[in-house]
Amino acid sequence: NVRVRFAPSPTGPLHIGGVRTALFNYLFAKKHNGTFVLRIEDTDQNRYVEGAEQYIIDALNWCNIPFDEGPNKNEKFGPYRQSERKDLYKDYAEQLIASGNAYYAFDTAESLDAHRKDHEANGKTFIYNWHNRLKLSNSLSLSQEEVKAKLDNGDDYVIRFKSPQDQTLHLKDIIRGDIKIDTNILDDKVLFKSDGMPTYHLANIVDDHLMEISHVIRGEEWLPSLALHMQLYTAFGWDAPEFAHLPLILKPTGKGKLSKRDGDKLGFPVFPLEYTSPNGDVSKGYKEEGYFADAVINFLSFLGWNPGTEQEIFSLEELIAAFDLSRVNKAGARFDPDKTKWFNHHYMQEQNNDELAEAFKNNHDELKDIDVNYIAMVVNLVKERATFVNDFWDLSSFFFVAPESFDEKASKKAFKDETKELMTTLVSIISNIEEFEVETLQKEIKGWITGNEIGFGKVMMPLRLALVGALQGPDVFDIIYMIGKAETIKRIEKVIS
Ligand code: GLU
Repeated sequence: NVRVRFAPSPTGPLHIGGVRTALFNYLFAKKHNGTFVLRIEDTDQNRYVEGAEQYIIDALNWCNIPFDEGPNKNEKFGPYRQSERKDLYKDYAEQLIASGNAYYAFDTAESLDAHRKDHEANGKTFIYNWHNRLKLSNSLSLSQEEVKAKLDNGDDYVIRFKSPQDQTLHLKDIIRGDIKIDTNILDDKVLFKSDGMPTYHLANIVDDHLMEISHVIRGEEWLPSLALHMQLYTAFGWDAPEFAHLPLILKPTGKGKLSKRDGDKLGFPVFPLEYTSPNGDVSKGYKEEGYFADAVINFLSFLGWNPGTEQEIFSLEELIAAFDLSRVNKAGARFDPDKTKWFNHHYMQEQNNDELAEAFKNNHDELKDIDVNYIAMVVNLVKERATFVNDFWDLSSFFFVAPESFDEKASKKAFKDETKELMTTLVSIISNIEEFEVETLQKEIKGWITGNEIGFGKVMMPLRLALVGALQGPDVFDIIYMIGKAETIKRIEKVIS
């Protein structure tokens, strides 16, 4: 029974690394007919950001990777916000004290700081563990009476895990294989604080156990915590889930980890949705920049995973079918902004023209009074050259308004001595066409050109320039048909007048 969870801390917007983690969890769950849980890890109240949870939920929904269980949804194992589970963690911390796997510590922040500085001065790093814990202020170094007195007195305390000395831990990771860790390098991590809040480590393990999580799929930055987490499972006597740590996402240069701040530097979104920080800064979102969710999902799926074939385009269903943790790489995955555009261009071609037309119309006042069916036909003609809906206007404005200026270089190329005469004849041919259809237009105009051995360029270049204002664009006969007889003639006459 596969149960996976995405467990973000609501400390700000989810960046694409987080969405990638959610996606891989989602794909794994769906592939195995399992359950995808959303758990909000909000035990660190200092870092809590208003609105971040809603942002996470909105982002998952926009990406079409909704959770099956989570806040306000199928709350079988709820609540799913750790702040609402606060009361249950203390018993577990005490259970570890009773079994000798954890202890109370009373060191003040000042004294720990002093130790740290002391060590630094001698070129060493201070590690709170077996090799100095007896010299520090905790229940292993104090008498039972002293400990009791401190607790009764309401002194601040933390509960620390008692990391063993001289042991080798054998850890397993689905992506990284076997990992050996010498416990002597581990510190006695804090599990619980006297403000009644567990730390990430304790809450995470207790909840993964209580929520019956079978596989933990998360970012590589959590790999150093795996040793502690495995020891906690052993200490509680619980079966541990299987672990898979996803590779880092690297900057486009391939050097260093992609950070939330890189978005602004790159002029490229690193957030799924636009985000306004509490101080008013706005960060770009894929959605608002005009990316399709399918494209974002497809490109994220390749950050660390590949199908082992040449295929690059995958629908969500195809991803579910193809996804396999054994094909996730250890090496960091380079983030390539241009590739996302390539995906978006591809998915543009698969979008429904009516919906694109609606979006295009909403973006442009000029289109307010234009029939959406006409806009949809225009969209159909230009979308193969568009990456975003925002590209449509530049690619198609001439379908709606006559060009006002003409590219100078193009004009030189297109307008020759004989142009005026040719265009005058063309106007009369076009005005005589009764059946105004693309095929008839093609037949009549091409027939005239070849019949008189005029040369296509001599007619087509000035004609295109008259209609479009430039020498690019869709098929000329499509344009003539779309803008109609009267408008076509008007535009040709304008350039020869
Ligand atoms: N709350 C952690 C985070 O913000 C969860 C890490 C994990 O999945 O264990 O990423």
